[in-house]
Amino acid sequence: MEKKPFVTLEKLQEIAKDYPTPFHLYDERGIRENARRLKEAFAWNQGFKEYFAVKATPNPFILKLLKEMGCGTDCSSLTELMMSDACGFHGHEIMFSSNETPPEEFALADKLGAVINLDDITHIPCLEETIGYIPETISCRYNPGGLFQISNDIMDNPGDAKYGMTTDQIFQAFRILKDKGAKYFGIHAFLASNTVTNEYYPMLAKVLFELAVRLHEETGAQIRFINLSGGIGIPYRPDQEPNDIMVIGEGVRRVYEEVLVPAGMGDVALYTELGRFMLGPYGCLVTKAIHEKHTHKEYIGVDACAVNLMRPAMYGSYHHITVMGKEQAPCDHKYDVVGSLCENNDKFAIDRMLPEIEKGDLLVIHDTGAHGFSMGYNYNGKLRSAEVLLKEDGSVLLIRRAETPKDYFATFDFCDIFKEIERSL
Ligand SMILES: *Cc1c(COP(=O)(O)O)cnc(C)c1O
Repeated sequence: MEKKPFVTLEKLQEIAKDYPTPFHLYDERGIRENARRLKEAFAWNQGFKEYFAVKATPNPFILKLLKEMGCGTDCSSLTELMMSDACGFHGHEIMFSSNETPPEEFALADKLGAVINLDDITHIPCLEETIGYIPETISCRYNPGGLFQISNDIMDNPGDAKYGMTTDQIFQAFRILKDKGAKYFGIHAFLASNTVTNEYYPMLAKVLFELAVRLHEETGAQIRFINLSGGIGIPYRPDQEPNDIMVIGEGVRRVYEEVLVPAGMGDVALYTELGRFMLGPYGCLVTKAIHEKHTHKEYIGVDACAVNLMRPAMYGSYHHITVMGKEQAPCDHKYDVVGSLCENNDKFAIDRMLPEIEKGDLLVIHDTGAHGFSMGYNYNGKLRSAEVLLKEDGSVLLIRRAETPKDYFATFDFCDIFKEIERSL
């Protein structure tokens, strides 16, 4: 499928006048339409709720927009909890799915009334010592080990993942938690990441639903919800077939009716914790070509770098690139599109066939709405970019300003050096 930016060249030029490149741009219309489709796909389930994985796009404006669409938040750190609280998410609208959890984070999650999802059986005493009791509602994260595969296609390797409890442990955990006063239980598992197939969720659902029936029958625990977590992917490449969320919802419904309903568990709520699927395609990184270099290869230097988008450097991920205004031009030039870090992996594209790029051209790097800005860092003293929201009515809203050198030096504000630096700003 052809990948088209959600914004025109004219609009980008207009935005870039107020907010210089590079910046991340988000598409309100796309975010809302997609969230609506997800809700529709699971409308058959009474208690369905999406808890947006804050780590994917931790921006208060985005969180508020998703709140309007009926989403909660999924947090795994202190600041994500703080941001959710500040954005008006309360009580069970917050899921706390953390691992290797610092006790003070349990304390804040409890104070906010969040649902706590325990990653390990040893977190039971840790939680109890920290907050003084076991909450009435509690969730446990499951890891069946082995390989997660659909027919012969290996999707991921849970046996190698640090998350979750083994089958024996989750049974034991439920018994211990029940003894300590827990009344309502949830089960959670995240077994494969960025799956571009309609079969992942139904397969995962089958594993979790069968586990839920056994846990209910063998421990007597009352299971209130099953959390399918994240993992629904997006087509980063033009040749990938996108997931059909309606087909996915229908696939999960079939398993629900096959496994849970006959066991008398037709009232169990389903939760999701999607990040990538909710935001990925509805954000892009906008950058400008500032150099061209002809050496052993052809390079285009842009004003963004890996600190703005780490995925290509970290995972070798493909992100599609559109040279704005040259959509119809032939892709007859082979480029490495690179940033300015002193790291040779700072490449947004390697040997990519693109139209001829000239200095000043605006490039849209697609699908950066999730795990894009949020994975940013400050290597080489580079500063984080702005985030801008393209509203449904076509207007533009700055939703995070770009960092300035003052922000970069702010953590020296306890010493004299900071005053020197401030003088030079
Ligand atoms: C990262 C994460 C998610 C979201 O994953 P996506 O691949 O963005 O859907 C959900 N739940 C937990 C616990 C996570 O760590």
